This record gives sequence, C-alpha cells and structure tokens, in this order.
Amino acid sequence: DIQGTFELNNGVQMPYLGLGVYQAEEGGEVERAVQWALEAGYRHIDTARAYGNEAGVGKALRESGVDREEVFVTSKVWNSDQGYESTLKAFDSTMDDLGLDYLDLYLVHWPVEGKYKDTWRALEHLYDTGRVRAIGVSNFLQHHLEDLLADAEVIPAVDQLEFHPYLVQQPLQDYCQAKKIQYEAWSPLMQGEIFKLPEMEAMADSYGKSIAQVVLRWDLQKGVVTIPKSSKKERIRANADLFDFELSEEDVAKLDAMDRGHRFGPDPDNFDF
Ligand code: NAD
Repeated sequence: DIQGTFELNNGVQMPYLGLGVYQAEEGGEVERAVQWALEAGYRHIDTARAYGNEAGVGKALRESGVDREEVFVTSKVWNSDQGYESTLKAFDSTMDDLGLDYLDLYLVHWPVEGKYKDTWRALEHLYDTGRVRAIGVSNFLQHHLEDLLADAEVIPAVDQLEFHPYLVQQPLQDYCQAKKIQYEAWSPLMQGEIFKLPEMEAMADSYGKSIAQVVLRWDLQKGVVTIPKSSKKERIRANADLFDFELSEEDVAKLDAMDRGHRFGPDPDNFDF
C-alpha cells in the first residue's frame, strides 16, 4: 500500500513512495502540496536546502496532525555548503527551517570533486550523534561510490539518481543492490515529458491506469524508491493510486528496453554548480 516501505541497510524503513517538492514555491504552494500528500496517505517528503522551501515543508508537517515518527523526511546538503564544518552548519540551518528535531535521511546532493569525502565525514558525524536516522548520497555514479567507500565508515543507505524509462542505468542499479545501497528515482516522470510518449499511453490504457501510475508502479516493482513531484491536489492523489494492479513481467521488460541513456537533468560527471 501507499505506506509500504523498503528496508535500508541500517534497518530503517523507507516508504517507497514520496512527494518531491523541487520547484514547489516556499509558502502556500509547498505547504498545500505537503498537506494534500499527507491527506492522500503519503508518508515521505523529499526536499533539499537548494529548493528554498524547507520552512514551508516543516510548517505543513507540524500543522498536519500526523505524528512526526510516521513521516519520512529527506533533505540534502547543497554543493556550495560542502566540506566538513560547512556541512554541519548547513545541516543546522536545514533543521532550523524545518523546525524538526531529527531528520530521517540526509543526502550529499551532488558529488562535488575534492569535497564530497569531507562532506561525507560530516554526515557520518550527524548520524553518529543521532540527528539523522540514515545518510546517503545523490547523483553518485559507480566510480563516485567506489571512491567514497574506500574511506567511508558508514556505507550510504541510499543513492538518489535520475531514473525513468529513458535512463535506466541497470549496471549502476545492480552495483547498488550488491552494496545494499537503496536506489531512489528522481524525475521519475521525466519532468513531465513522459506524458507525451504514445507507447506509454498504450500501456497505460491496457491496464486502465494513467501513464504516471504505470511508470511509478514500474519503479516499485524494480525495487526503486520514487518521489514524483506535483503541486496539484488531484495529481498528488492520483499519482499514489498504484497499489491495485501489477505490471506483467513483459511490460516491466518493455519499459526497461526503452532505455536510451538520455538525461533530462545534469550529468554527474560534468555539472557546473
Ligand atoms: P518529475 O519527473 O516528478 O515530474 C514532475 C512534472 O510532472 C511536473 O511538471 C508536474 O506538473 C508533472 N506531473 C506530475 N504528475 C502529473 C500527472 N499525474 N499528470 C501530468 N503531469 C504530472 O520531476 P522532478 O520534480 O524533477 O523530480 C521529482 C523530485 O525528485 C523532485 O521534486 C525532487 O524532490 C527530486 N529531484 C532530485 C534531484 C537531485 O539532484 N537529487 C534532481 C531533480 C529532482
């Protein structure tokens, strides 16, 4: 069901469906989106320092009436804050804005060369002191993970990556699975582009479901945590309506085969921010 979880490598349960809030504006927009998601049964919210909306996320969570322990909250340290001391400082700002006393998951947002290992040591410290229940990375390719693991004391619990039928990166998924690093999808709806694909429409029709429901169902059947974004009440609700059907193995394979290594977002080996 909507509150179902995957177990992370430290035993923490992570709900496999969450609401992404990138580009949901601080204030009313993000507050309403979080409120509607909680009403629809979501128990997982994905934000980041860089999204500029942590205060709104926190306000909506506190005012929702849902117990803090029931909701899984993720944030991320931004690139300009990377480094040991600066990450600890950025974490404090994140927690002040969220108005929460612990975080469920804190991620290194991008693998900033020469800095991500110091950043990781800061996350390990936050984890050791109990301020976050799990720590992980985002946009780390296999070589970044190998490099990090060479020195890490804590193995990342999660790697959050661009993932959709045009960018499957199956070898990276297999590597993460072997290392017990939970794969998590960002831009699972291809930032809206997936709704233009006729082959997706045909598959959705064959199940009597929507394109969003089919592709998000594929994520779950592949063991991938997914965080579709919407600020619209109806879409937030409908995107989560994916627990009353199952994709056939053939259709899972068909979606896998749409892979063309295409990114809608930046390349982790060549980003400039
Ligand atoms: P997405 O793939 O979730 O697509 C969102 C777009 O699809 C929006 O324009 C929305 O209006 C539209 N949409 C949503 N539901 C729809 C529906 N049912 N019908 C029609 N249109 C619909 O894109 P995203 O926001 O880039 O990714 C999701 C989340 O992933 C983000 O909000 C953020 O939390 C996270 N993210 C993380 C990183 C990272 O570097 N770690 C990068 C990008 C996004």
